[in-house]
Amino acid sequence: MSSLSEEAIEKLIKAGKIAREVTTLAAKLVKPGMRISEIATTIENYIKKLGGKPAFPVNIGINYVAAHYTPLYNDPLLIPDQGVVKIDLGVHIDGYIADTAISVALSPAYEGLVEAARVALENALKMIRPGIRAVEIGRVIESSIKSYGFNPIKNLSGHSIDRYIIHSGITIPNYGDILARHRLLEGVYAIEPFATNGSGFVKELDITTIYALRRDKIKLKNNISKLYERIYKDRLTLPFTLRWYVTNIEEYYTYLELLKHLEKEKLLIKYPVLVEKTNGYVSQFEHTIIITRRDVIVTTS
Ligand code: MN
Ligand code: MN
Repeated sequence: MSSLSEEAIEKLIKAGKIAREVTTLAAKLVKPGMRISEIATTIENYIKKLGGKPAFPVNIGINYVAAHYTPLYNDPLLIPDQGVVKIDLGVHIDGYIADTAISVALSPAYEGLVEAARVALENALKMIRPGIRAVEIGRVIESSIKSYGFNPIKNLSGHSIDRYIIHSGITIPNYGDILARHRLLEGVYAIEPFATNGSGFVKELDITTIYALRRDKIKLKNNISKLYERIYKDRLTLPFTLRWYVTNIEEYYTYLELLKHLEKEKLLIKYPVLVEKTNGYVSQFEHTIIITRRDVIVTTS
């Protein structure tokens, strides 16, 4: 990862500031009985109102859903009375991304689980310095979460971020993975501990709500090409949801069919919903940081 320009740092910080403000609103919206599609739309509209764009569709993960669930078009799901809700949101300005997440306990029974991920992130941020090895961060996250009696999720991790690229290749484990000896040099990173009262692993469901396009010059049939160009113009290769592009249910099903064609042409990346393997409940907190040659800036707090 190359060093960052002043303009890049400025835009990263601005995106982080918007993300922080939106997160404050998001926390207030999570109340039992609220429609999650309404929460998502309110959050995404607020990002735009503040001058940013969503870096990805807002993820709303309820209980054992760990990641990659964004409300579908007209999604009837409501915030339940019990459990834990995660809101993971991203903001970008000209491709400079802020990625952040919070968890809300809906009942006192899950306050400890939420606290475990929150404190794990806090402890990790306290010790990160330029050149730190990823495994050292993982160790702190793991021991923090375990001190609350929970497990870190081992197959979800923090990641480096590049312009227009949310996961750009370097990972930061949520446990003391001895293979993660690489050092974090100048660049942008998301640190995101997940805690669970389950086994500590996620698996994919056969449900996808979030997609991204691949760029390739392939001749497409007219109606498919129209949707492809419309989404590419809006998103480039950033993640999207069909909820953003449809106005009625017939259109939704038509577009779902078109996506199948894009998938056949290998122009579509799917991000299946991730759930805890043993149906354990999951909490998560996340901040984005810039590591410069000398110091560490948390852009989203
Ligand atoms: Mn995130
Ligand atoms: Mn992330």
